[in-house]
Amino acid sequence: MNRLVCTACGESFGLDEPRWRCSCGGLLNLSWQCVFEPKQTAGRKPTMWRYREAIPLGDSSPIVSFDEGLTPLLCIELEDMPVWIKQDHLFPSGSYKDRGAAVLVSKVADLGIDRVVEDSSGNAGAAIAAYCARAGVSCAIYVPESTSPAKLAQIRAYGADVHRIPGTREDTAQAALEAAQTTYYASHSWNPFFFHGTKTFAYEVCEQLDWQAPDAVVLPVGNGTLLLGAALGFRELHATGVTTHVPKLVGVQAERCAPLYHAWRDGRDTPRHVRQGDTIAEGIAIAAPARGGQLLSAVRESGGEFIIVDEAEIEAALRTMWRMGYYIEPTAAATIAGLYRYVHGRERDELIVSTFTGHGLKAVGKMAHFDE
Ligand SMILES: *Cc1c(COP(=O)(O)O)cnc(C)c1O
Ligand SMILES: [Zn+2]
Repeated sequence: MNRLVCTACGESFGLDEPRWRCSCGGLLNLSWQCVFEPKQTAGRKPTMWRYREAIPLGDSSPIVSFDEGLTPLLCIELEDMPVWIKQDHLFPSGSYKDRGAAVLVSKVADLGIDRVVEDSSGNAGAAIAAYCARAGVSCAIYVPESTSPAKLAQIRAYGADVHRIPGTREDTAQAALEAAQTTYYASHSWNPFFFHGTKTFAYEVCEQLDWQAPDAVVLPVGNGTLLLGAALGFRELHATGVTTHVPKLVGVQAERCAPLYHAWRDGRDTPRHVRQGDTIAEGIAIAAPARGGQLLSAVRESGGEFIIVDEAEIEAALRTMWRMGYYIEPTAAATIAGLYRYVHGRERDELIVSTFTGHGLKAVGKMAHFDE
């Protein structure tokens, strides 16, 4: 049965209800009978919509799209180890968040909603604003005051109303939650449709590896919207018999804001609130991830792990990628710093996939001080 199901009380709602959380306040998951077969993609355009049957939108739903997705999967060498990097910084708004925004805003259009709110450290707001512009939906984006000027300018350029909130990232989330009392919350952490967009990462990776799942996938974790989406996609592909296994999921956090790493290491099921330290990986500095418990169980069930990286490692990974010709933003470099840690001393026969999550042009203001 295709339903929105509360993770706290078990109550369920139809997919045509404009709900982003349960009446009890609990997180919703989307329970979905996936009926995908690789041969369905034959002859289709090279976009994430080639997996249309796997995306939980009704047959008559409008698709809000820029023909995004199927980003290149390039093999590069790190410490003599070949690793596959999904070039998700090449999405229309400059980050992988477009995967989630495309599906979520399509759902918004299908529900006939004409205004949404979202909160973000920058990239999710830019993605939602871009797809809302495409759909003719108005949006209010809440961002922390510290958001990088390039990201702010981009969100404004799409015509969104921008609200800059003083204080921490959690204060911004709180302000958006209040606005969401009266307006549909197009939240990348709460709204389950977002994850059914980010799951296309897994579908693309497997297709690009000739319908084989990798052994390990190294991904960033703040709110974990890519990691949870990827977990969902890899599990669906396994459950429908397309692939033989689910890869190990390796979550990378910045040492200065690592609630999930600490919970994982201490064997806890939920993260404790941490103080948000100042990191150049601004996009993953999430002190209280809404889906913390789900992230811990997804990583544990996969036999994976959490890795933390410090500021010097992030900066080193950033410079190395730049010198190799990959212009990524500092948050994206945190994942690559984690990838360096992961591959260090590992056997060459492991098939490892990671990603560039955000484009370097996103953080031009912040990056000026890196110039020598
Ligand atoms: C959103 C984002 C991430 C990962 O964030 P989550 O909070 O885990 O969803 C990583 N890199 C970039 C560039 C991002 O925009
Ligand atoms: Zn509930």
